[in-house]
Amino acid sequence: MLGQMMTQPLLISTLITHAERYHSESEIFSVNTGGGVEETTWGQVAQNARRLASALGKLGLDAQARCGTIAWNNRRHLEIYFGAPGGGFVCHTINPRLFPEQLVYILNHAEDKVLFIDKTFVPLVAAVRDKLEHLEHIVLMEGSDSEAAEKLPGLIFYDDLIASGDPDYTWPEMDELTASSLCYTSGTTGNPKGVLYSHRSTVLHSFGVNMADSLGIAATDVVLPVVPMFHVNAWGSPYACAMSGARMVMPGPGLDGASLVGLLDKYKVTIALGVPTIWLGLLGEAKKIGSKLESLQRTVVGGSACPPSMITTFREEYGVDTIHAWGMTEMSPLGSVNQPLAKHRELPIEEQHRLRENQGRPVFGVELEILDDEGKPLPHDGVAQGDLVTRGHWILDSYFRSTTEETLSNGWFDTGDVATMDPDGYVTIKDRSKDIIKSGGEWISSVELENIAIAHPKLADAAVIGARHEKWDERPILVAVKAEGEDPSEAEILSIFDDKIAKWQIPDCVVFTDVLPRNATGKVLKRNLREAFGEVLIGQAS
Ligand code: AMP
Repeated sequence: MLGQMMTQPLLISTLITHAERYHSESEIFSVNTGGGVEETTWGQVAQNARRLASALGKLGLDAQARCGTIAWNNRRHLEIYFGAPGGGFVCHTINPRLFPEQLVYILNHAEDKVLFIDKTFVPLVAAVRDKLEHLEHIVLMEGSDSEAAEKLPGLIFYDDLIASGDPDYTWPEMDELTASSLCYTSGTTGNPKGVLYSHRSTVLHSFGVNMADSLGIAATDVVLPVVPMFHVNAWGSPYACAMSGARMVMPGPGLDGASLVGLLDKYKVTIALGVPTIWLGLLGEAKKIGSKLESLQRTVVGGSACPPSMITTFREEYGVDTIHAWGMTEMSPLGSVNQPLAKHRELPIEEQHRLRENQGRPVFGVELEILDDEGKPLPHDGVAQGDLVTRGHWILDSYFRSTTEETLSNGWFDTGDVATMDPDGYVTIKDRSKDIIKSGGEWISSVELENIAIAHPKLADAAVIGARHEKWDERPILVAVKAEGEDPSEAEILSIFDDKIAKWQIPDCVVFTDVLPRNATGKVLKRNLREAFGEVLIGQAS
């Protein structure tokens, strides 16, 4: 016997329709690429999204045509997020920090027919235009601009395109499993791979984001996604905000500390999302100008491990709760969120703080498991560490143009992370499996060492890698960037590890460098560090 309830497809258009109906006046503050802030509302975004869907149809695009974007976080990008998938096309966000060859690879692999770009990226696109095999239209996300049109013949202007769309357009019905958005992984090795989200997975992910023990975004919130819209859909925040009717602040191109603190204070942001490096800049600036970040209630930190010292600074100096979250492109990205359980309230406050440091527990909709080398589940005792695998409603089944058999193992997706899990399901990410340091048969977590090192006041940045060692196979070494105006000695830096970890885990040496190499999404390129410094211990007495 089947249930007798309505079955409505879970479509992205239903999110924007909800925002338009029930949160029409809710504001979106958007920093323009050329400077200045534009104020709009969910009502207006919804209207433009409908016009855009209609205009894309009039361009003669087939259903499911990929519409690429190379753009900052701004309101036009938000309209494309809803207009393209809502109209039955695929919104393909592209990271502008990729090398030009990767950019070309991705656009050709995805077969993008339309490319929306912010003015910043006109030179980038003009340089590779001839190599884009499937591209038919380039749309500048501005009003008319003759200078840009000269560089890109045939350029369409976004505002004209919107004006050509039908204001009475109605969203089409479609299967909820239809592809909605496409995002390529950052690809630290090999070619980037496409993750093709569906309408259903996106709507379910939005529910997951908005749950109280997840990010809990509410209509009363003002949300600042610092995480770029080209990085896993800004962690799904635009869709989750439309679902809850939250106001948004779109920061545009300026992601430096000063710009962010300015936006935060002016628009009374309550929740901001970003990677740890962004918060380093923001905290530095807040301290410099004496901002108390008055309105901010919580920060969502993910993308790389959040150093415990950052959580403490936010809490003690600004009264801000850090929500440490973990996930990946292949997971839409939400996997786990660190929120407390009822029983934790009775623990001493220091213990409660310590518990907030790990990557948290799976939200409903995601299952996590840790496996040994033979693929057998390991105990959830907070000690055993193994390969972290996942499955769930918004986890990929296969990469774009690949098969399930090539992607999953026994129905689980291997995240490539190594983790422990405690009896309550709290996960601690120890490393990417390829970065973990194997020293004399023991494993050392580079993340753990980095978390300690980054708290050193004389360091601006730090990464730990395994360097080759004649006796122990590998030993940890610390690659460090000195803080401005500081000149610490190696011994001074290494002393920060005393009494915090076992002696045999302390890095063998410190290599100072000017800057850490990072990939297009801000993750440290450990492979490059290993190439540069991986042999420094060879020939030294152990
Ligand atoms: P991406 O697909 O570019 O978002 O990268 C996903 C990877 O980033 C994960 O597999 C982790 O290795 C890493 N990552 C994301 N969030 C965290 C976190 N909170 N702590 C540690 N690593 C993280």
